[in-house]
Amino acid sequence: SPTPLTLLGTGAMGTALARAWLAAGHPVTVWNRSRARAEPLAAEGAVVAGSVAEAVAANRLVIACLLDDASVGEALSDADLAGRDLVDLTTGTPGQGRARAAWAGERGARFLDAGIMAVPPMIGDPASGAYVLYSGSAELFEEHRATLAVPAGTRYVGTDPGHAALHDVALLSGMYGMFAGMTHAFALIRGEDIAPTEFAPLLVSWLTAMAPAALETAGKLESGDYTKDVVSNLAMQVAGSATLLRTAEEQGVSTELLTPFMNLMERRLAAGHGDEDTTGVVELLAVGAD
Ligand code: NDP
Repeated sequence: SPTPLTLLGTGAMGTALARAWLAAGHPVTVWNRSRARAEPLAAEGAVVAGSVAEAVAANRLVIACLLDDASVGEALSDADLAGRDLVDLTTGTPGQGRARAAWAGERGARFLDAGIMAVPPMIGDPASGAYVLYSGSAELFEEHRATLAVPAGTRYVGTDPGHAALHDVALLSGMYGMFAGMTHAFALIRGEDIAPTEFAPLLVSWLTAMAPAALETAGKLESGDYTKDVVSNLAMQVAGSATLLRTAEEQGVSTELLTPFMNLMERRLAAGHGDEDTTGVVELLAVGAD
């Protein structure tokens, strides 16, 4: 029979998670700081606990989905976590995940940190591609794997409790680089007789075609040889960047989103790496690298 669980936090994400577990027949106890936000779930079968202590006492599996790591510490400061399996779906940093794991261990709980790669409407929809990254206790993950897989897919990324957050933030950081590029592209065509809705499909297919470059970068980083099978060498790319910068100028568009990466490519070229692609720029980003 479906595992009973406690969910702390019924904000936008917590509510979506609760609904998915309830729909799958799991007995769910919910707690929210402002009780009114948890009440609607009672009509869907959840038990609304009056306090964190009551919610934590109700079930061995305790899942937190609160605003940030500080709110997890605050909400659980007086709770008895001994013998509990705590799964923290709250977004945080790798350091916060590691510290929270040690904190949970001191209180006698097994711990998994997690990063949700989805927005609430994707939760509970197997076709959405939503998944959650987990790291920390492998025993906890194995034991509750089926329950954790109810709202979204699961990706266990190792015993280091910081690694779920690290994967999460690395993926989001890549996304923001893409958003920056999209923003600059739309700024370039703005004010011209080009419909954004006609340009956008071209942008999507170009970015999709270029995304597998990450696989080439990964291969080079692992082999340590950044010059093997280079498709577009750095010397050519730096020369080409002049065209990108000049076009921005012609269009009256700021280069502030473009120049940080161009400057790094130039630095790597100046250090004598014109026969690489952009992989070597990864090394320049280590704080203190020259
Ligand atoms: P909401 O703002 O909708 O909800 C925040 C929740 O945190 C509420 O339950 C709120 O309680 C609670 N909370 C805030 N501060 C405290 C505190 N000090 N003590 C106790 N409870 C507190 O956020 P979401 O539900 O959207 O997000 C929850 C987590 O999920 C976040 O870590 C977020 O990064 C992550 N996430 C969200 C995504 C999204 O698209 N929404 C996507 C991926 C991850 P109250 O109702 O009383 O204010």
